[in-house]
Amino acid sequence: MLFLYNSTIAHRILSKYLTSSQQTLLGKQGVRDGEHFLLLRPKKYDVRRYDISFSDISMDQSYAIIGKIRSVSKRQIRRNLTVFSAMLMTKTDQIPIVWFNQKYLIEKLKHDPFVIANGKLDASQLSPAFQVSNFEVCSSFKVAGDGQIFPAYPDIKGVSNKVLVGIVKELLSTSDIVDLIPKELRDQEGLLSIKDALMAFHFPLNQRSLDDALKRLSFDEVFKYMYPRRDRHQKNKTTRSSVSISSDTALVQSYVNALPYALTHAQARVWSNICSDFQSNRSVFRLIQGDVGSGKTDIAILSLLACVSSGYKSAMLVPTEILAEQHYLKLLDRCSSLGVRICLLKGKQRKKERAEVLDALKSDGPLIVVGTHALVQDSVDIVKLGLVVIDEQHRFGVFQRQTLIEKSTIPPHCLFMSATPIPRSLMLTHYGDLDHDVIDEMPPGRLAAKTYFGKIQRLGQVHEFIRLALTSGRQAYVVYPLIEESEHLESLQAAVDGFEALQQVFLDCRVGLLHGQMSNDDKQRVMALFKANEIQLLVSTTVIEVGVDVPNATIMVIMNAERFGLSQLHQLRGRVGRGKDQAHCFLVADPKSVESRQRIKAMLNTTNGFELAEEDLKIRGPGNLLGTQQSGEIVFAFANLSNKPLIQRVVQCCDLVLKNPDRYRDIYDYFLQQSAVQAELLN
Ligand code: ADP
Ligand code: MG
Repeated sequence: MLFLYNSTIAHRILSKYLTSSQQTLLGKQGVRDGEHFLLLRPKKYDVRRYDISFSDISMDQSYAIIGKIRSVSKRQIRRNLTVFSAMLMTKTDQIPIVWFNQKYLIEKLKHDPFVIANGKLDASQLSPAFQVSNFEVCSSFKVAGDGQIFPAYPDIKGVSNKVLVGIVKELLSTSDIVDLIPKELRDQEGLLSIKDALMAFHFPLNQRSLDDALKRLSFDEVFKYMYPRRDRHQKNKTTRSSVSISSDTALVQSYVNALPYALTHAQARVWSNICSDFQSNRSVFRLIQGDVGSGKTDIAILSLLACVSSGYKSAMLVPTEILAEQHYLKLLDRCSSLGVRICLLKGKQRKKERAEVLDALKSDGPLIVVGTHALVQDSVDIVKLGLVVIDEQHRFGVFQRQTLIEKSTIPPHCLFMSATPIPRSLMLTHYGDLDHDVIDEMPPGRLAAKTYFGKIQRLGQVHEFIRLALTSGRQAYVVYPLIEESEHLESLQAAVDGFEALQQVFLDCRVGLLHGQMSNDDKQRVMALFKANEIQLLVSTTVIEVGVDVPNATIMVIMNAERFGLSQLHQLRGRVGRGKDQAHCFLVADPKSVESRQRIKAMLNTTNGFELAEEDLKIRGPGNLLGTQQSGEIVFAFANLSNKPLIQRVVQCCDLVLKNPDRYRDIYDYFLQQSAVQAELLN
């Protein structure tokens, strides 16, 4: 959080309240220093009440009642279980109470007559009573805090809540807390001072004051996460030395002229942003987000060509061999006639072919290489690498990206392409250090795929629908889920079985099968046949999930759709609707869980990837939205990542501070020092 405090004083306070064994115990739970205590989150808050009657107490609600104990009686149930019953005299009533053990209490009450009894109503007995889980004793109801709200911290064995409250109170009042956010900025953002916020966080006056406190703490939390990213972002822009690329070349022009269509406005805008980066000699470090089918490949190719015509190599990294093959063929088709050398590097490749490609990469001349993870291996040297395009970048880990980028002595320009629409808030948090563009427009004439949902019993109707489409020259996919590696074989079997059954259903049609276990040659053969409409109906596992582009295919049937995640469903649906004809997507599913129903409903409601991503965020939270490889470590204690305005405000504030270090000296220096400490740790 964005505050400083005096750690010597804090240390003294901790030693005053806690024995060293208690400190060890707390340390094990991650509560070690002053800051940990100041941010220790109450598991709930209790209103202390002196003015309360028995009839005010409702079931299932916990209370902290202040009163005096009278008429105690005790019963020994077992050797180590004693039940005490008594009356708790409040201002207005006497409340029957029970508690177990805690014999010491009776002795203590001789000095301090008042108690705060925490507990709940137990109505399971013949005569209902207030069952007390723990007591605090005090000398008067005023000291006890009548009417005030008190924190109940998580149970920590061996340390009472009262002690924790004492520590927090004293830390708040004596440890010299300094706010790093200047008043001017707090006022602008409507934030409490850190001291007020911490005070209200532990001892709120009401819900409103607690909300205000949490607002400030969330702000600080996101700010701390975001600031170094925005810092890196600015530095990348200004200091990354980079290859000089000219985008306005004959090669680029010829490509544009040869396209059978005009770029959409969105494509043109994104391309011109990339060009102006190139022109201004800044390095490109940009994420291009565009929904499935929005035409990201052309942007990638234009950039690759610009780089090649400036005398450098450019590389395109893709997640699957099928996709590598597809891009390679497209590049061969469109660019080799322009005199550009195109290479392909993938895992399984003939030795001679691979050696040739590796040699070419080591040579001085410009070329475009398309590759899978094979491109990232140590044995691959790329000389004069000017640009790296990473397609479907969400499928790669940060590490793989970095390895490729670092293959060159001069940092290459980097373009990241993603069809996984990420809600803007997450986007900013994850990619705060990247520029980004959105291709928010589809090529003209595209019709949104019509989506239907039905149980397996309706499959016959789906087949009829497919048959009609196939006879009129269209093509279709039927996809079976691949859930986890361990289930690999099972789902493979589902696809194989499905293939055999569908061959029987469509006796007079050409049905093909594609799955991950097939050899590369077989996969390529099947894809080529499908592209040429030699295969009309393609039965497949999820290997076709990303990137595959066969515009004549208009029907997508997703079997067991309840087993797919929302972004996968969206990607799969994106395989159709890539031409001018109306596309149809059938979700064949038997959703049993609430979540799977929500996913299917979302798919029926919209074809907009961004809306689906927002929905996904709501359904399963930010944790795994980006896939395990990237969701990584962001766990915020206070901030809610789907709070878009918050994230946007924070980004603006970070930028403001970075641009005006003199005006925001404290906070600027704080982060400077933090990064120095981190650099030292890394060395
Ligand atoms: P994605 O963004 O999913 O990678 P692609 O780049 O594969 O999309 O493009 C999808 C399809 O749209 C391709 O068949 C491509 O040729 C076509 N396409 C791309 N841009 C345009 C455009 N401006 N006008 C018409 N069709 C386009
Ligand atoms: Mg693509």
